[in-house]
Amino acid sequence: MTSRTALISGASIAGPALAYWLRRYGWDPVVIERAPRLRDGGQNIDVRGAGREVARRMGLEDAIRAANTGEQGTRFVGRDGDVIAEFPVGTSDTDGATAELEILRGDLARLLVDTTHDVEYVFGDRIAGLEDTGDRVSVAFEHGETRAFDLVVAADGINSSTRRLAFGDEATIRFLGLYTGWFTVPRTATDAPWWCWYGAPGGRTVTLRPDNHGTTRAALSFLSTTPGYEQRSMEDQFELLRTVFSGAGWETNRALSDMTVAPDFTFERVAQVHAPRWSTGRIALVGDAAYCASPVSGMGTSLALTGAYVLAGELAAHHHHQDAFRGYERIMRPYVDQAQKLPPGVPAIANPRTRLGIAAFHTAVRLAATPLVSRLTGGLFSPPADKIELPDYGHLETNRRGGT
Ligand SMILES: Cc1cc2nc3c(=O)[nH]c(=O)nc-3n(C[C@H](O)[C@H](O)[C@H](O)COP(=O)(O)OP(=O)(O)OC[C@H]3O[C@@H](n4cnc5c(N)ncnc54)[C@H](O)[C@@H]3O)c2cc1C
Repeated sequence: MTSRTALISGASIAGPALAYWLRRYGWDPVVIERAPRLRDGGQNIDVRGAGREVARRMGLEDAIRAANTGEQGTRFVGRDGDVIAEFPVGTSDTDGATAELEILRGDLARLLVDTTHDVEYVFGDRIAGLEDTGDRVSVAFEHGETRAFDLVVAADGINSSTRRLAFGDEATIRFLGLYTGWFTVPRTATDAPWWCWYGAPGGRTVTLRPDNHGTTRAALSFLSTTPGYEQRSMEDQFELLRTVFSGAGWETNRALSDMTVAPDFTFERVAQVHAPRWSTGRIALVGDAAYCASPVSGMGTSLALTGAYVLAGELAAHHHHQDAFRGYERIMRPYVDQAQKLPPGVPAIANPRTRLGIAAFHTAVRLAATPLVSRLTGGLFSPPADKIELPDYGHLETNRRGGT
C-alpha cells in the first residue's frame, strides 16, 4: 500500500511536530518553509502540561530539559534594579511564569527538525496556489514545480498565507493592544539568571532573560491600540521604540542601543487567532495558524505540540480525512478555548500606564510572592496547561521511533 502524503507549510514548532507524528503512522510528509534556513530566533517558550506529555511521547523530554535556559524564575525590578518581588521556577509543569521545561524557541525547532531527519524539508519556498480537486490537493509553489498531495496543513503561524489562500478572511485576528520588540543582546556582568521584569509609566515594559548561549534575551513591550506598526520597516520600528521608550529607566538605554545591531530583531503585534473551523476539504490548520493564543498566554507551544499530536493521531485513526478533522476539532476546541481565555485585564494589567498603577502592581506582586498568598493563589501565573485528555494512538503506529 502506498503511503499517504501531506504537505505541511511552516517549519517552526507545529509543522515539524506534525511531520514527526505522521511519520510514526506511516505517512510521507513534506515540510515547506518560507525562510531560506531554519529560523533560530525567539525567546524562552514553555512546554507545559499536555505539551510536555506529547514531548515525552516523542522521546524529547530529556533533550528539552538539557537545553534549559537556566532561568531561576521571574523577578520584578524597580527603576534602579532593586528587587520588588521574585517567583522561583515552578516545580510542577503548570506552576509559575517560568516553567520548569523552558527552552529557547529556536532550540526546540532545531530539536524537532533533527528528530524528523527522514522527512523532506524544502526551505526558501512557499505555497503560491492551492486547488482541492476532491481526491487530492494540487499545490503550486512560488519556486518549485506543481505537486499533488493527499492533504495540506498550514502550520505557518499567526499571519498564515496558506490559511488566507484556503479560507479567505474567515479567521479573526484579535489584536490585544500590545506590541513587542524581541532581540538578543550581549550578556553583561550585572545580568541576573532571572527573568527580570521592569515596568515604566506609559504601559511600557522592559524584560531581560538569560539564555543558554551566553547572551541575554531582551524584550521591549508597550501598550498601543494603533494598528499596523508590525508592518512598518525595521528602521521605522527602531525609531518607534526609541521614541516610546525614551527616558524609561533601568536597562532601557542599553537595550535600545544593542537593538539596532541584534542578529534577530523581531517586532510583533500581540494577537490571537480565532478561526470558526480548522479545516476545509483536504486542507487543515494547526498551531498558531489555527489558534494562536499569543505569547502572553504562555500556551502557544503546548497548543502547537498537542494539536500536531491529535491531528496526526486522528488521521491515523480514521479512513476519511473529514472524520479525522472532525475528531481533531472536537478534542482540541475546549483546550484551545481555555488557553485563549486570558485573565481579566491582561495584558494591560501587567503594563500599567501611571506611576500609581505601577505602585499598585508592585504591591500586588509583593503580596503574591509571600508564602501564604502564593499558596492561596497558586494559579496566578499558571496557564491551563493540562486541561485535555490526550488520546492514546500508540496501537496505530507503523514506524515506532524514540518516545514511549
Ligand atoms: C522566529 C520566531 C520567533 C518566535 N519567538 C517567540 C518568543 O520569543 N516567544 C513566544 O512566546 N513565541 C515566539 N514565537 C511564536 C511561537 O513559536 C509560537 O507561538 C508557537 O510555538 C506555535 O508555533 P507554530 O509552529 O504554530 O508557529 P510559528 O512559530 O509562528 O511558526 C510559523 C513558521 O512558518 C513559517 N512561515 C510563515 N509563513 C510561511 C509561508 N507562507 N510558507 C512557509 N512557511 C511560512 C515561519 O517562518 C515560521 O517558521 C516565535 C515564532 C517565530 C517564527
